[in-house]
Amino acid sequence: MASVSHRRSLRRRRTLVVSAALVAAGVGAGVLVMNANAGTTTVDLYHQRLAAKDGWASLGSGTTGGAKADSAHTFTVSTRAQLVKALGSVSDTAPRIIKVKGTIDANTDASGKKLTCANYAAGTGYSLASYLKAYNPTTYGRSKLPSGTQEKARAAAQKKQAANIVFKVPANTTIVGVPGTKAGITGGMLQIQKVDNVIVRNLTFSHTEDCFPQWDPTDGSSGNWNSQYDSVTLRGATHVWADHNTFTDAGHFDSANPKYYGREYQVHDGALDITKGSDLVTVERNRFTNHDKTMLIGASDSDSTGKLRVSIHHNVWKGIVQRAPLSRLGQIHIYNNVYETATLNGYALQYSINSRARAQVVAQNNYWRIPAGQKISKLLSGDGTGSIKGSGNVVNGTTTDLVAAYNAAHSKKIKTTVNWTPTLTAGLESSAKNLLTELTPTTGAGVLS
Ligand code: CA
Ligand code: CA
Repeated sequence: MASVSHRRSLRRRRTLVVSAALVAAGVGAGVLVMNANAGTTTVDLYHQRLAAKDGWASLGSGTTGGAKADSAHTFTVSTRAQLVKALGSVSDTAPRIIKVKGTIDANTDASGKKLTCANYAAGTGYSLASYLKAYNPTTYGRSKLPSGTQEKARAAAQKKQAANIVFKVPANTTIVGVPGTKAGITGGMLQIQKVDNVIVRNLTFSHTEDCFPQWDPTDGSSGNWNSQYDSVTLRGATHVWADHNTFTDAGHFDSANPKYYGREYQVHDGALDITKGSDLVTVERNRFTNHDKTMLIGASDSDSTGKLRVSIHHNVWKGIVQRAPLSRLGQIHIYNNVYETATLNGYALQYSINSRARAQVVAQNNYWRIPAGQKISKLLSGDGTGSIKGSGNVVNGTTTDLVAAYNAAHSKKIKTTVNWTPTLTAGLESSAKNLLTELTPTTGAGVLS
């Protein structure tokens, strides 16, 4: 893998003129821009903006992130403290570029010292043993949410962790990994909330962990342990381009989660969640791997109306349990993705794409590689109100009508017509057949130069 990417980068340096195909594949040495005075120039990684017509985030004013940042708002960061300082305040909307060099551990203090879950719990009175005793369903019952001393203590400890690991991103920001440095954030959450125009690229997000999952005895038929943090969370955010990132639980796979009250003590939540009226988002050439609840679009069946417009293309989803994505309400275009659904490190598929709450999903020219014995009818999911208009989808080399396969096996049918036609489709490939070969070496963090 390293040698392949090394050869690619050498080839790029030698080649001044990047072929249109490579640019389309997102692996060019910078984005070529035609300039009437200077001819063709190259924009470096840090100043690149979303291309015209590249998905919903290109609508209207488009997505430029911090492309116009001045030198006072251009930062290189390698520690949590430096990242916090570079992000500044969400009320400061001056364009900014944040270059992340190396891996930043969110669970560190201002001096860089490692913080553990015990550090956050200290002084709150919280202990898992006391919490488990207080809300044991056999004594506490299953009809109401935990309340009282231990729940208060849990919330206080969680608040302390949140203050440390949640990074609030202001408007007009580009946050991008420096090539060749294994750039990324481990244990943290980028929160893009009620802001416009943000670019997130070339970063590995790993093992975002909630030290203090909350027991919800009313969630589902057996109760659930729920966690707070997504690696990247969009809440009421607009014009966001997430490109060439890797999302993974590496560092703590779910198979290591214990069970309490017979339920998995889940410390992870979403990888990249798009909720609370977020809109105009392009999710492109990322690698989602080793994760359960991967991408939520719409936090509830009444999240918002007329929003949640998301384009998802040329991503690889490998070893994902569910929500790739879970779609609600919005107009969502899912094209040219690769889904590898064999169980990986204990992550066993429930489904790939879910369309519910009247979601209007267009799923076009995606490729599924599924293992022997896996049912095509299991690749989708829905509540009977969502739509998926599918075309050109391929399973193990064969063009396949996934919706028909799902509907033949389920009573709550997925609707097959949608209320819109995608037009912001730059780079849409008319066939899925070569995607596995194309995307495996060109997606995720560490590819861009
Ligand atoms: Ca959750
Ligand atoms: Ca979430």
